[in-house]
Amino acid sequence: MAGHRSLVASMRSILVAAGVSVVLVVVASCSSPPAPEPSPTKPAPPASVDRQPPTAPVEVAEAPSPEPVAPAPAPAFAPRFDPPRPAPPKVEPTVRVRVGTRLRKPQSFTCPSGEFTVLSGAERWTAAAPLRVAATVTGWQVTAKGSARSFAVGPLELRPIGKASIEWDGAGWPGVVTLVALPDGLDVVMEVGVEEYLPGVLAKELYPQWDEDAFRAQAVAARSWVLVEESRWEGRRHYDVTSGESSQAWAGHTRNARAREAVAATRGMVLVFEGGVVPAFYSSSCGGRGANALGSVTLNPNHDIVPVRSGDQPARTGCCESSSFKASAHYRWTATLPAATVQQAIRGFGQRNGFPTWAGIDVPIAIEASQTASNGRPLEYRLRFKERNPVMIPASRLREAINGGIPGEGGSRTLKSDDFTVASTPKGFVFTGRGFGHGVGMCQHGAQATAKAGKTWQQILERYYPGARCVRAW
Ligand SMILES: [Zn+2]
Repeated sequence: MAGHRSLVASMRSILVAAGVSVVLVVVASCSSPPAPEPSPTKPAPPASVDRQPPTAPVEVAEAPSPEPVAPAPAPAFAPRFDPPRPAPPKVEPTVRVRVGTRLRKPQSFTCPSGEFTVLSGAERWTAAAPLRVAATVTGWQVTAKGSARSFAVGPLELRPIGKASIEWDGAGWPGVVTLVALPDGLDVVMEVGVEEYLPGVLAKELYPQWDEDAFRAQAVAARSWVLVEESRWEGRRHYDVTSGESSQAWAGHTRNARAREAVAATRGMVLVFEGGVVPAFYSSSCGGRGANALGSVTLNPNHDIVPVRSGDQPARTGCCESSSFKASAHYRWTATLPAATVQQAIRGFGQRNGFPTWAGIDVPIAIEASQTASNGRPLEYRLRFKERNPVMIPASRLREAINGGIPGEGGSRTLKSDDFTVASTPKGFVFTGRGFGHGVGMCQHGAQATAKAGKTWQQILERYYPGARCVRAW
């Protein structure tokens, strides 16, 4: 797999892999009795504004580059960063979630106790909320109730006194906040314990009426996935994940009882394969056949393991073909695009990312699968032209190019997945597709259907991550 030239990857790949010792910690397995459940309660209304369909976490940093890639004049690229999968940590780690990105205006923060400790390097200041924080070229200007102070450039931490909870941007957030000034705005990063983080993920990723077993399976998958991300970015970037679709969606605090219960019932439980945590990718709907992680959501060969080699699994039945409107709308879909629109989209993508072959592409006359996984899901498409030689494009890249980016980072949802056939018609290309999202690992609509069919959350995980063991890490 040629994969050294993604611009996004290059910007995020700075250092070489730090050695991570692989020490398996197995205290209990998921098949042991789950923690006592709270008494059944009616699910609370969602705390967040989100009511989007379940969406897919997309590992943007390692998306494959197109083939062939012409040599110069590509910019100088940093070495690839392919860390090993981490061993399950013995204690609950924290995760740094970027909730605000390159904000240009001053930001306001409050907290339940009304008092923050502001930390900047060795400086500490106790300040009364609300705090108003502005980034300037010379450093931070912090205005508190009745006083103000400036701090040097560098990360600025706001630590609520008492309960670790912050009100910001109209929502409540667990943890402490670090502000990072960048040339084009400030980032807001919440640092929070994984167990406190997860309920707000489930509240965003699943529908509140879904089954408890679907929630619990999702909790284990989301916990496993975030551990791999957290170990990967530690010391390399000022956040581990974002709160949007490019990672896994996050609502901050949530009163969603089902989400909180599912996290508590699976506390510390993660998926493990050959001693390392499984990067448990998941997506909304697989359309009846899964995709391989390597080449669609990651280029890290350490992630090419049986549990997420979903394209090598048999085609799925009793998955996301359910009769619910949302599921069926994603299970099969069509999109029609003029051939010139496809050409322009690929050209634009090629120009933005420094891929000359794509940047000068002709209008295609046909698009067809040129390589498929063993379950039939396309891995690569061949674009044919009237006069030029065909161009091969990896499936996930073609979807990203035509959509103009990935969901949550400027991309459209025109092509809901990278699994489609294409007919050439007078109106243009008609894409007939299967599923919604990248299709790797757990299929969320399928998890719900599997739960409805009477399976437990452990069985859901075994179905979608075959070969992985569920262990309690902390
Ligand atoms: Zn499915």
